[in-house]
Amino acid sequence: MNNYHLGTKCVQGGYTPGNGEPRQIPIVQSTTFKYSTSEDMGKLFDLEASGYFYTRLQNPTNDMVANKICQLEGGTAAMLTSSGQAANFFAVFNIAGCGDHIVASSSIYGGTFNLFSVTMKKMGIDFTFVSPDCTPEELDAAFKPNTKAVFGETIANPALTVLDIEKFANAAHAHGVPLIVDNTFATPVNCRPFEWGADIVTHSTTKYMDGHGAGVGGCIVDSGKFDWTKHAEKFPGLCTPDDSYHGITYAEKFGIEGAYITKATAQMMRDLGSIQAPMNAFILNLGLESLHVRMKRHCENGLAVAKFLSGHDKIEFVSYPSLPGDKYYDLAQKYLPNGSCGVVSFGMKGGRKAAEEFMKHMNLGAIETHVADARTCCLHPASATHRQMNDAELEACGVYPNLVRYSCGLEDAEDLIADIAQALDKV
Ligand SMILES: *Cc1c(COP(=O)(O)O)cnc(C)c1O
Repeated sequence: MNNYHLGTKCVQGGYTPGNGEPRQIPIVQSTTFKYSTSEDMGKLFDLEASGYFYTRLQNPTNDMVANKICQLEGGTAAMLTSSGQAANFFAVFNIAGCGDHIVASSSIYGGTFNLFSVTMKKMGIDFTFVSPDCTPEELDAAFKPNTKAVFGETIANPALTVLDIEKFANAAHAHGVPLIVDNTFATPVNCRPFEWGADIVTHSTTKYMDGHGAGVGGCIVDSGKFDWTKHAEKFPGLCTPDDSYHGITYAEKFGIEGAYITKATAQMMRDLGSIQAPMNAFILNLGLESLHVRMKRHCENGLAVAKFLSGHDKIEFVSYPSLPGDKYYDLAQKYLPNGSCGVVSFGMKGGRKAAEEFMKHMNLGAIETHVADARTCCLHPASATHRQMNDAELEACGVYPNLVRYSCGLEDAEDLIADIAQALDKV
């Protein structure tokens, strides 16, 4: 599959049926798997043989779909998780624990910000948030001796800042740690962070990958390029024996291509669960089959709506990375030359009240916390997803009180624009 273009991988990646086998991926709706001898099963528990034994850790349907996403991102190993939140939690917790520190872009999804700054902080992991626009010097200054990873979003939800992946990767590597990039909004159709130096990619597959608002899910992909053994003192979980697996050292036994995902599967999934249901993986795969076709349309609609809004006198500002003149236009041209995403953020003149008023008059754009769906949806983050943040925190992550997040679906752009126009007229 690796020699094919991206669209072909979207359609046929991850699963190649043999003679007489189902054309569509089978849904292995089974919690458990049968073995002939206890010795056979024992080998699985020792990670001496590969195979399935319990769906809390691994399931064949999930692995086919994870394999497709792995091929799309150009990675060496991947796993599905029950949600994007689980993906980002596992991606970090797999290599950081109590007493460790992470450098993260301040411009990230509100749920991830909470996960890091509240829940993982309680677990003893310390985060330093840096502006995605920081200088290399400022970024460098954020590192500590106990820093274990750097985290950012290719296109931040909902601020739509574009991460300078090379800048963040260089800083991470100079300090001997991996860069984890949440690539949810761009999808591998529009950006493959590994090509720019990222080491781990995460997804909320709930968004464009599923694309139809049908199933919550997440994914973690490893580039297989970060050499944990070169920084063994920083990553004892990967480079020293795991007593819960008879003293296996993941980096030795599974190499740099497989150590990270094997540990996340064998240890994190075993202990914490949070696997994607096989049925959801099947639904996700239906979405992936048309991802390359849909992303093009989402981006066309996004650009058309952004252009319309930028010429409207009730609009204070428009953020859309592919719009000429946008603060992130140059970075978008570099990292997202074929388009960014279907999400447009804009600020209403008249502040928070005007934004709330505008939302009431939308017909096609439904008010939802969801985003990146076939159906257009919109959200006022300051009164919903980012409600818990004070104004200073909102500003720091680029989510202003008058900001509306408008997620262009797959409808006709003319209808979306007409709907926005009539709603703006009523404000
Ligand atoms: C939605 C989202 C998440 C969280 O994903 P869930 O599937 O909702 O748990 C993480 N990162 C980004 C960028 C998102 O948009």
